[in-house]
Amino acid sequence: MTIMKSEELTRPIENQQLPVCLADVECAAGRIRGRVARTLLVRSTSLSQLTGQSVHLKLETRQPIGAFKLRGATNAIVSLDEAARERGLVTASTGNHGRAVAYAAQMLGISSTICMSSLVPANKIQAIKALGAEIRIVGISQDDAQVEVDRLVADRGLTPIPPFDHADVVAGQGTIGLEIVEDLADVTTVLIPLSGGGLAAGIAVALKALKPHARIIGVSMERGAAMHASITAGKPVAVREEETLADSLGGGIGLSNRVTFPICRALLDDIVLLTEDEIAEGIRHIAREAGEVVEGAGAVGVGAILAGKVELFGPAVVILSGCNIDPDVHRNIIAGGAA
Ligand SMILES: *Cc1c(COP(=O)(O)O)cnc(C)c1O
Repeated sequence: MTIMKSEELTRPIENQQLPVCLADVECAAGRIRGRVARTLLVRSTSLSQLTGQSVHLKLETRQPIGAFKLRGATNAIVSLDEAARERGLVTASTGNHGRAVAYAAQMLGISSTICMSSLVPANKIQAIKALGAEIRIVGISQDDAQVEVDRLVADRGLTPIPPFDHADVVAGQGTIGLEIVEDLADVTTVLIPLSGGGLAAGIAVALKALKPHARIIGVSMERGAAMHASITAGKPVAVREEETLADSLGGGIGLSNRVTFPICRALLDDIVLLTEDEIAEGIRHIAREAGEVVEGAGAVGVGAILAGKVELFGPAVVILSGCNIDPDVHRNIIAGGAA
């Protein structure tokens, strides 16, 4: 499935002023070094055999909080001035970003409040509580949770740390791109789970600057692919939020998106959408063949390859973005149960 982009949307990169550049990502790498894991890139025997190309898995599942979001949150928080830190942090999150902010805040001795919708799985809420953050459950969507964040910022002066639409967050996620180029200089394709687009935008900024011919492919679920709908529409649009195995990919991109929409629109080569069964197949394959637990969102890149929805032309990297899945759900999927 190719994203429909008008001529105007695909004008050459060098003519555009994107909100994040390679230098920002390189600065972020310096700031987060020693605070965030530099993750392994491991070759997948099964996927390499299947595709006839060398396929590698980037294990963001091995971050201290089990997801890449620690990179962006840490970079954003370390960049704050003393006054902003002292007022305390607040964010809305479908789980992993909230966990990342809570973890980084605790590490740096700052207080944090995490707002989330009632669709967020119980295991994720528990994990954030355990990190010492204050939790607020508000409404049934990411947008409802964001309204509460805005209120706490206005009424109590808390410092917001957005989950994706923020230059420092994007630059932090982009450090994955630097590591990929260091470890696999001849990379030709990177498959990236795509929701708000912070992960894809950051990696794309780094990769397109260092390896202009490498392809960046975003992967979302069919149920509520907000960035895909927005790029197709030519502007940020709302999508109906539905339950999905890839719960970390839920939520919109924000109607006043300023950072990730322009970057994804300019730099993503394609976006692939998966069914729930294809996501489950990805989770199963990674467990059986790589011995790695991944959550739905983290499995979409592998799911896309297994479903035959991306063609590879050379060495490829698949981002396994996170491992925070309810153990019962994971067990069910491995046993071949329905999504
Ligand atoms: C947040 C998240 C994503 C999507 O990242 P965006 O920056 O919102 O596109 C993918 N996988 C996992 C595990 C996540 O937590």
